[in-house]
Amino acid sequence: MKHISLLVAVLALLAAAAAPPPSAAQTPSAALAAARRARVDSLLARMTLEEKVGQMTQLTLSAFTAQGTPHRDSVRLDTAKLREGIVRRHIGSILNVEQAALTLEGWHDAIHQVQGMAMRETRLGIPILYGIDFVHGASYTRGGTLFPQNLALAATFDTALARRAGEITGDEAYASGLPWNFAPVLDVGRQPLWPRFYETFGEDPTLAAAMGARQVEGMQRGGRVAATLKHYLGYGNPRSGHDRAPAYMSVREVRESHLPPFAAAVRAGARAVMVNSGEIDGEPLHASRFWLTDVLRGELGFDGVIVSDWSDIINLHTRHHVAPTLKDAVRMAVEAGIDVSMTPTDYQFADDLVALVREGTIPERRIDQSVRRILLLKAELGLFDRPYPDESAARRFGTEASAAVSRQAAREAITLLKNDGGVLPLRPDARILVTGPAAHSLTALNGGWTYTWQGADASQLPDGPRTLLEAMLKRGRDVRYVPGAGFTDTLDAAAAARAARDADVAVVAIGEDAYAETPGNLDDLTLPEPQLRLVEAIEATGTPVVLVLVEGRPRIISRVADGAKGIVMAYWPGMQGGDALAEVLFGEVNPGGRLPFTYPRHVNQLTTYDHKLTDEIGPDTQHPGFHPQFEFGSGLSYTTFAYADLRLGAAQLRPGGTLAASVRVRNTGRREGTETVLLFTRQRFAALTPAVRRLRGFQRVTLKAGEAKTVTFTLSSADLAYVGRDGRPVLEPGTFDVMVGGLTASFGVVGGASSGTGR
Ligand code: BGC
Repeated sequence: MKHISLLVAVLALLAAAAAPPPSAAQTPSAALAAARRARVDSLLARMTLEEKVGQMTQLTLSAFTAQGTPHRDSVRLDTAKLREGIVRRHIGSILNVEQAALTLEGWHDAIHQVQGMAMRETRLGIPILYGIDFVHGASYTRGGTLFPQNLALAATFDTALARRAGEITGDEAYASGLPWNFAPVLDVGRQPLWPRFYETFGEDPTLAAAMGARQVEGMQRGGRVAATLKHYLGYGNPRSGHDRAPAYMSVREVRESHLPPFAAAVRAGARAVMVNSGEIDGEPLHASRFWLTDVLRGELGFDGVIVSDWSDIINLHTRHHVAPTLKDAVRMAVEAGIDVSMTPTDYQFADDLVALVREGTIPERRIDQSVRRILLLKAELGLFDRPYPDESAARRFGTEASAAVSRQAAREAITLLKNDGGVLPLRPDARILVTGPAAHSLTALNGGWTYTWQGADASQLPDGPRTLLEAMLKRGRDVRYVPGAGFTDTLDAAAAARAARDADVAVVAIGEDAYAETPGNLDDLTLPEPQLRLVEAIEATGTPVVLVLVEGRPRIISRVADGAKGIVMAYWPGMQGGDALAEVLFGEVNPGGRLPFTYPRHVNQLTTYDHKLTDEIGPDTQHPGFHPQFEFGSGLSYTTFAYADLRLGAAQLRPGGTLAASVRVRNTGRREGTETVLLFTRQRFAALTPAVRRLRGFQRVTLKAGEAKTVTFTLSSADLAYVGRDGRPVLEPGTFDVMVGGLTASFGVVGGASSGTGR
């Protein structure tokens, strides 16, 4: 077979040589791109319909594993099943793990088997594109760097860090031999009940766009790994709060609050997009030509690969009931614009698609479009030339330096929400009770997508990283531990309360153990009763309580929040989270994280920060309509900051123009700290009701005690536009307010309404 691949390579080279020579104006990368296109076209010209459709078919690894395959370290593949998939069915792509993470060697072995068959036994020697969910670092390769989940990363407001985390994740995916990463999640988390809330960068589209675009740039740096923006579009706002449940939003609202991160990440060069399993206003995204082709390709200019989510073409028939047959489902998805079907276990998609083309329902040139994109992606990733794992990349895998970046991310994420009487940092001589279900749990620090899909199997996790309790004990303080409660089970809360009486302070770590997707569905955001009872029992002793919230979404704590002196939001801070938390609690690190969402106080009041004024009307002045537990952007420090001199560069802004805004920030406390300066704007009057405020910019500034700096933002008119009734951005004349750190300044937009401001 080797001579066949050699022939293919020679033909490809000839084809490349036949391509028009690069003009003087063409950059080397343009020439390279032209050569790749030529190679792909020459291949495409020789493919049968079955081979083309095979490229559009993706199966999960477990479709190929041998009976009794060990579920640790390595995986045993069934050669006959693999041959059926790769050689007879010509599949282009495989995804996922069997059950749990593999070692680096385990992955290399699996990829060698897969690519060996694709390169040596198939007619055309087209490499397989392997896809994986490295959603918070190299989550499925043992010893990989695991970062805080994206919700925590968002709390850092540190785009350089998001980029660095992306780079490390990309490097480790490459080192694993897995060039297609199904990350980042760019759904905007506008419904905190949703069990994938923690995978998002929070509720604000501007923040999610900035963090997501930088993460994509980092992950794709070097061009060896493709990032996937998922899940396009509107997944983050299911009305019921359940996973994959319908969203009911206008096109306008989707464009305003959910599209911007995808648009920014497409601009940043993302190579793939995965489709939302759900629906918007009755239209499943997998059948939406409007969202997939007209908007994603037409408006955003996305030219990469669109992949379905798990089984979701089948679901057009079985769940959504928009396709009367499975074959109709295939037709609808392909007509909508999907390139790859994550089938994920059989060949029905391929069989039906071949039939649809043969009977003339779908033109073969439509298939060619998708296959060209898929082959181009394989070529861009260098898979034709280097289909096998690069052994030399292992030295960049799971390094101390990468763990240090993860630690830094966790430190920057941790958000101090309450610190009455300076209960934190804990005094060096304090007798400390540590209790609660999250105190001694590595699974709860990492959350879902950690060695296993659900992330809750502690036996799979590595030995080295410390839980919060272990990290506190390591520091040699006077720490006593009593479990107190399980995440959902009642334990001996009275024993914890007795211990609290003998302590100077109680650190109660509560929240959620790991979950992912639908198994994480909830009907009530309230923190489970056994945990609330534990906190109440400890608060009743009079010993000061510090709550540490380790959770993937804001579980409601209003019953116990007032009784606590300190509240620290940890999110799911990753493998280094235990140490980072201990550093913050003991004051070795000064916290500076900011809440990237609105923390609700009541189960039925899940309003986001960028709501309308009428959302704030309550029954009386004692009960405002918007009264969250903690506001979007909340976050204290062990020092204090004062804002002064908010100045605008001009009194007026014209469409197409920019406006400078500056503010002086001073560290008025006694230690160095980092402040994230958040700039909001408000349009006083608009044709469609304006939001009370919108985040338009943010900057981190680190100041020594007493130090002051001027922070400057440049607002463009595009930043101030909103999506009008026709779905286009509109900037209306009128008065706008700029709000920073409690200060407000105003300016006018002049020059008439405009649209097409570039969002
Ligand atoms: C999830 C995706 C994921 C895919 C492959 C789906 O259930 O929704 O986020 O990439 O599975 O594991």
